[in-house]
Amino acid sequence: MMKLNLLTPIKRRWLSILTALCMSVSALFCITGCMGDNVLTTPITVTDYKLNTYVRISSYSNVRKEILTDALKLCDTYEHIFSRTLASSELYKVNHKETNIISSELATLINIGLEYSEISNGAFDITIGSVSSIWDFTSETPRVPDDNKIKQALSFVDYTKVHLTENSDGTYTIDMPEGTCLDLGAIAKGYIADRIKDYLLEHNVSRGIINLGGNVLCIGQKKNDTDFGIGVKQPFAQDGSSLMETLSINDSSVVSSGTYERYFYEDDKFYHHILNPSTGYPYDNELWDVTILSSDSTTGDCLSTVCFVLGLDKGMNLIESYEGVEAIFMTSDNTKHYSSGADKYLSRQ
Ligand code: AMP
Ligand code: MG
Repeated sequence: MMKLNLLTPIKRRWLSILTALCMSVSALFCITGCMGDNVLTTPITVTDYKLNTYVRISSYSNVRKEILTDALKLCDTYEHIFSRTLASSELYKVNHKETNIISSELATLINIGLEYSEISNGAFDITIGSVSSIWDFTSETPRVPDDNKIKQALSFVDYTKVHLTENSDGTYTIDMPEGTCLDLGAIAKGYIADRIKDYLLEHNVSRGIINLGGNVLCIGQKKNDTDFGIGVKQPFAQDGSSLMETLSINDSSVVSSGTYERYFYEDDKFYHHILNPSTGYPYDNELWDVTILSSDSTTGDCLSTVCFVLGLDKGMNLIESYEGVEAIFMTSDNTKHYSSGADKYLSRQ
């Protein structure tokens, strides 16, 4: 007190200006700090066409946009490992016998694919590549392949002939017969979404949505006490925007597999992209869609395709055998079939 009184009026003025400045600076820190913890009402979003689909990553945590841009780039990184069609990818080189030494990451995904091939008893089979490559559903003008070609391609489909051995340097040696072609298209997007989520969590994104062409993975909640609202598209909806279900999702994954995703008509006959490894033609099992709710997206992506190929009864039994995984099946009569715990995800307004 005494000392303050010793200050000249000018010094006292400067001191008050300085104090005010310090207060406003700390207030600014507080605001910025609060924003860091705070939930954004409008998310920061990046979007691009990658992995043959529209990818969108949104953060409701206040982070630099470059973090999301870098997360988006992971799609390219993984495409260079898992793509069946990209000539520079690691999988392409394996399929074309340019190498039999593979990274642990490719081995991990192949191993997951082999496990689900086993679980489904070969109805799902990651060696479907020799057949899926001649169908080529991504072409502008897809056509039904020659039946003899399908039969010939089928002779290379057998997941039991693929073997992985770990090497001392952390790589793996893959052993599979000449002509075998791996197709990880049914499972890679789920795995990539999980890796993007890991990256975002490491960079302080605690609330967000990763959407890889309808393969959705949520990080945390949208805000405290509010889950993310995720719409599942109605198969074959004319307007493209009608929903078959609205879900309330918190830190979980929603993945759908369906006939409507890639298909074409030839001579009035409908052909879709999920193929039966015992005939080489699309499955005809009266399913339109299988949507899986699970904590991670790898499981969701694997099980959505596996349940599709198993059909409603076997697929539903498989889901009921898993803890924490739920499913909605839609049959071609437009009826929805729910697993026993799916209720808790349904948002009924
Ligand atoms: P999804 O959209 O996740 O259900 O995966 C569909 C993709 O899985 C197709 O585009 C093919 O790449 C691949 N695929 C098709 N049929 C099978 C099958 N029977 N087993 C494993 N993968 C398949
Ligand atoms: Mg899938």
